[in-house]
Amino acid sequence: MTDTAVAPPTVRDVVAALDARYPRAWAESWDRVGLVLGEFDTPVVRVLCVVDCVPETVEEAVAAGANLIVAHHPLLLKGVSSVAPDTYKGRIVHRLIKAEIALYVAHTNADVANPGVSDALAARLELVRLRPLVPATGAAEGEGRGAGRVGELAAPMTLAELTGFAAGRLPPTAAGVRAAGDPERLIHTLAVCGGAGDSFLGAAAAAGADAYLCADLRHHPASEHLAAGGTALLDVAHWASERPWLDEVAGWLRAQFPVTALVSDLDTDPWTVHAVSPDKEYLT
Ligand SMILES: [Zn+2]
Repeated sequence: MTDTAVAPPTVRDVVAALDARYPRAWAESWDRVGLVLGEFDTPVVRVLCVVDCVPETVEEAVAAGANLIVAHHPLLLKGVSSVAPDTYKGRIVHRLIKAEIALYVAHTNADVANPGVSDALAARLELVRLRPLVPATGAAEGEGRGAGRVGELAAPMTLAELTGFAAGRLPPTAAGVRAAGDPERLIHTLAVCGGAGDSFLGAAAAAGADAYLCADLRHHPASEHLAAGGTALLDVAHWASERPWLDEVAGWLRAQFPVTALVSDLDTDPWTVHAVSPDKEYLT
C-alpha cells in the first residue's frame, strides 16, 4: 500500500472505456451515442448514471459534485441548429458546461451489449438461462449480443402473480405494471426488453415465450398480438424498465476506475398520476 493518492481518470479515459464496452458502431443508424459535451482532460472523480438527462437529473449531478453524467437516452437525438439558453435543451447544455460536467450517452449500443440494458431488467426478475430475444446482426453480431432477452422464471407463476412480482421488483412508478392476457396463464418463459418494445412482439411469440414484458405498448399492436395467440403482455413504465441498467454500469465503472459512481433514482417517467376506475373490477 502507498499513501500516494491514485490519480483520477480523465473524461478521455472514461469515454474510451465506455466506447470499448459499448462501441458506437453497435448503435442503430438513427441513434446518436457517445460523448455529447465535456472537456477531455477534466478529471473524473464522481459519475452520475441516469436514464434521462433532464434539468432535474442535471441538478442532481451538480449537487453530487459529479464530473460526468452517463445517460441512456440521447439529449440531442435530432438535428439542432441552436443551443441558445432560452431553449429547453440549450439550457441543459449551458448548465452542464458551466458546471464542468461532461455528458456521455450509451443507448441502443448498450441495449444490444452483453451484458446490456435488458440483462439488468432480466436480473431484477430473476430470470435464468438468458438468450437474446433478437440476436444482433452487423457490427454487434455474436457473443450473446442482441435486443431484449428471453429467460426462464426461477419458479413458474401465473400472469396475475407475475404482474404483482414485476411491480414489486422493478423501481416504483405511478404507472406500475399492467398486463394483458389470461390472468391464470402459467408463465415459465419470459421475454423482456428495456424501453419501447412494440417492434419485438412477433419475436417474443417466435421465441417461445409465455409472456413478454416491455414498455410503451400500444392498443392496436397489443390487441392484434393477443388476437393472433401471441404471448401474454406486461407493460411497464419506460424509466422503470431501464433504471436497473444504471446499477450495472455504475458497478462496472467502479471496477474500472477509482471513481465514485452514483445512480439517479429520480423517476423521470412522464406519468405521475394513476387511478383505478371504481366501477371496474381489476386483478391487483
Ligand atoms: Zn429508453
